[in-house]
Amino acid sequence: MSNPSILILPGDGIGPEVMAQVTRIIDWYGNKRELAFDVSTDLVGGAAYDAHGVPLHDDTMARAMEVDAVLLGAVGGPKYDDLDFSVKPERGLLRLRKEMDLFSNLRPAQCFDALADFSSLKKDIVAGLDIMIVRELTSGVYFGEPRGIFNEGNERVGINTQRYTESEIERVARSAFDLAMARGKKLCSMEKANVMESGVLWREVVTRVHADYPEVELSHMYADNGAMQLVRAPKQFDVIVTDNLFGDILSDVAAMLTGSLGMLPSASLGAPMDNGRPRAMYEPVHGSAPDITGQSKANPIACILSFAMALRYSFDQGAEADRLEAAIETVLADGLRTADLLGDDGATPVSTSGMGDAILAALDASL
Ligand code: NAD
Repeated sequence: MSNPSILILPGDGIGPEVMAQVTRIIDWYGNKRELAFDVSTDLVGGAAYDAHGVPLHDDTMARAMEVDAVLLGAVGGPKYDDLDFSVKPERGLLRLRKEMDLFSNLRPAQCFDALADFSSLKKDIVAGLDIMIVRELTSGVYFGEPRGIFNEGNERVGINTQRYTESEIERVARSAFDLAMARGKKLCSMEKANVMESGVLWREVVTRVHADYPEVELSHMYADNGAMQLVRAPKQFDVIVTDNLFGDILSDVAAMLTGSLGMLPSASLGAPMDNGRPRAMYEPVHGSAPDITGQSKANPIACILSFAMALRYSFDQGAEADRLEAAIETVLADGLRTADLLGDDGATPVSTSGMGDAILAALDASL
């Protein structure tokens, strides 16, 4: 049987710097755990524009549709700010999400004990936090028609349309219930059923899907209350499922409970492929960080945790994902920190590759 395949798209700015550390970890799994991957690398974003005049070449798109998982670094940078909208680096990312139909966006908010002081909330509220927000990614108000700025009488009106079909709600709900089954069997669905018809339908469909997951404890919450509860007592949640707009905001709120942007991974999943694996792209939440590019300051952990998500959700290697997350926990507990995590607690500063070295050493020690 052939090895599972991964397409690596490092992108721009710190993307290639953090992805270099992920590549070392992928090699470690091949050498030390007999878990070899067929890895290919290609261009996306500004790097693809420089080479091909487009932020994603058709051949790269075709390759992304063939592999078992895509790992993406980050795209964009000041050099590309004045490009026409149609060829901006972000368009490469959006094309991947759209053509792969990645409708379920998983954003974990996990607080490593060693970093609990980094949260803007009190330590006891966030220590041990481990929640997952599932955001619908391909529909809702960001895509609904009609949209635009129109003339109405003697003034203009800006219009966007919140629109969800039952099948769009159902597929993301199933993805969230599946996750809840693999975690704490607790799911909270958030919408605004009190004021939006799309929210009423959302609640109805999620409740209907629940019948297929009787072991999961389902609750519903209005999204504004959800935002308050996330800041007041985030540990009451396990998995949260919500629409594109609320998910955009709530996942950022939840993520920031845990500290630095350099620590936040994500997964975007689509429908199962012929081999049963979901179409999938994994990427850190952060951007290309032009302010620190080329200075060996970037924290590679968000990108490495994104690969841990790939191990878990694409390759059915949950125990190896646990091993990688535990290695990161060890390194942080030992006080090693990239610049973004340095406080006044006497931690040891390390470079991007120094963090990679330490995680590889912790992986070796785990054997
Ligand atoms: P950013 O995430 O790149 O950076 C915000 C701040 O966080 C910066 O101070 C940066 O140094 C820091 N930071 C980010 N990642 C870090 C890491 N791994 N380690 C240490 N520090 C880190 O956001 P921005 O500055 O708003 O955007 C910069 C560029 O990235 C823009 O071109 C933007 O369009 C693009 N962008 C891309 C994505 C993506 O590829 N998914 C996401 C957001 C922004």
